[in-house]
Amino acid sequence: MKVTKAELGTVAVKPEQYPTTGLPEFGLAGRSNVGKSSFINKMLNRKKLARTSQRPGKTQTLNFYLINEMVYFVDVPGYGFAKVSKTEREAWGKMIETYIQNRDQLKAVLQIIDIRHEPSKDDRAMYEWLKHYEIPVILIATKADKIPKGKWDKHCKVIREVLNKDKEDPLIVFSSETAQGKEEAWNTILAYMKK
Ligand code: GDP
Repeated sequence: MKVTKAELGTVAVKPEQYPTTGLPEFGLAGRSNVGKSSFINKMLNRKKLARTSQRPGKTQTLNFYLINEMVYFVDVPGYGFAKVSKTEREAWGKMIETYIQNRDQLKAVLQIIDIRHEPSKDDRAMYEWLKHYEIPVILIATKADKIPKGKWDKHCKVIREVLNKDKEDPLIVFSSETAQGKEEAWNTILAYMKK
């Protein structure tokens, strides 16, 4: 898809603040530093729209990026709780739970993981949690430029096994450096918009 317009449309904490346009939405989840902002910026052809390297616990808002007046990316604060207090963690959980549970427009969550490593405990917890709520997940295995192409399949196999991945959920090899997987990611998103 050709992105001609992308802007931070809405910043929300509470449901009253969510957009009311009715346009389809895709959540973006990933532990801090995994490459989520880089993914968003690459997909939207923007250098700095999504802020990179946000510290966990810092920005506890849902950021709705409006793309081509047609679809939203909803950036959820990064998980990875080492540096976050219990109170903050609970507030985070509540905000996301509220959003995910009652949002008809939410077509899928793009969960960003690092292709180089076995999914972490937090990655697994996030995936299981999304599956518990029966949310379709599009897995994005990013930083693919950091390992040789010949190893992608092997790493994807580990990811599928460790997450106990649902067969329906796509796994896309991605790189924000080379744009590997960008077309595939957009085509998948467009297909999920019609579901
Ligand atoms: P976030 O905290 O999940 O939003 O992560 P960022 O997007 O800020 O990325 C964390 C770090 O990883 C930054 O230094 C990025 O430049 C780097 N990074 C992100 N994606 C890629 C990628 O696909 N390839 C490479 N080589 N580096 C990446």
